[in-house]
Amino acid sequence: MKIVVCIKQVPDVADVRIDPETNTLIREGVPSIINPFDMYAMEEGIRLRERFGGEVIVLTMGPPQAEAALREAISMGIDQAVLVSDRAFAGSDTLATSYTLAMAIGKLGAVDLVLCGKQAIDGDTAQVGPGIAENLNWGFAAYVRKIEDAGDGEITVERLMDDGYDVVRTQLPAVMTVVKEINEPRLPSLKGKMRAKKIEIPVWSSEAIGADPERLGLKGSPTQVWKIFTPEFRRKGELLQGEPREQVDRLVAEIRRMNIV
Ligand SMILES: Cc1cc2nc3c(=O)[nH]c(=O)nc-3n(C[C@H](O)[C@H](O)[C@H](O)COP(=O)(O)OP(=O)(O)OC[C@H]3O[C@@H](n4cnc5c(N)ncnc54)[C@H](O)[C@@H]3O)c2cc1C
Repeated sequence: MKIVVCIKQVPDVADVRIDPETNTLIREGVPSIINPFDMYAMEEGIRLRERFGGEVIVLTMGPPQAEAALREAISMGIDQAVLVSDRAFAGSDTLATSYTLAMAIGKLGAVDLVLCGKQAIDGDTAQVGPGIAENLNWGFAAYVRKIEDAGDGEITVERLMDDGYDVVRTQLPAVMTVVKEINEPRLPSLKGKMRAKKIEIPVWSSEAIGADPERLGLKGSPTQVWKIFTPEFRRKGELLQGEPREQVDRLVAEIRRMNIV
């Protein structure tokens, strides 16, 4: 199988800070990591190669420093890496990002499966995986917690749902987003680290992937961020005291007072 894993470099902070003037992420002085959900996607790609043979390629769209994420992926046991980087991609929303990644996947040729994380911990939209599938017109499954089987042009997976799981079968090639329940990502090996240092990582421009300039970066991004803010917490909680009967009476009285029922 030829498997592509899309990974995103994200800021390593629990609370992402936003520049109130520009409404963009503050990246200066913030160390970067591979989006945690993408570690599970990479591990699953490697496990599928171990089961079915083939190769695993990681792909990221990002600035030149995103190369570090790709080298880390190689140290885990990924075969090849491609950085999709161009000033024309700056300001991309999820629509432009999905289109760009789909064009790069098209250039890789004869891909069977694309794996993504279920969402990025900074942008958090969970739109890029389905967006790639839509652009490629391939089958799609989100929240995949297990890949049961792949072969004869089909793949069968379990999708995590709120109240259990679905078993879904789709034709290959396909795109899937994975949840952390799918596996336990391995640590980089010494051999992998040595390879990561030496490997040449190609950088593909907008021209190299044959993209339509109108669909890239700010130009190709209909989403506009007007304002980003942390909502103020206005409601004050109250802990009811006393015997259960008294508490219920108080609660019912409060609900009636608020005209909820
Ligand atoms: C108007 C606008 C302008 C923006 N400008 C910028 C900007 O200038 N610079 C900037 O960094 N961000 C910018 N963003 C944010 C950017 O659009 C998103 O970070 C990006 O589209 C991915 O969306 P997400 O983070 O919600 O990913 P999700 O959809 O939550 O990610 C799901 C999965 O998709 C894959 N994935 C996501 N992004 C990438 C990627 N880049 N490469 C490979 N795989 C990926 C990963 O597997 C990930 O786990 C902008 C957003 C908007 C709306």
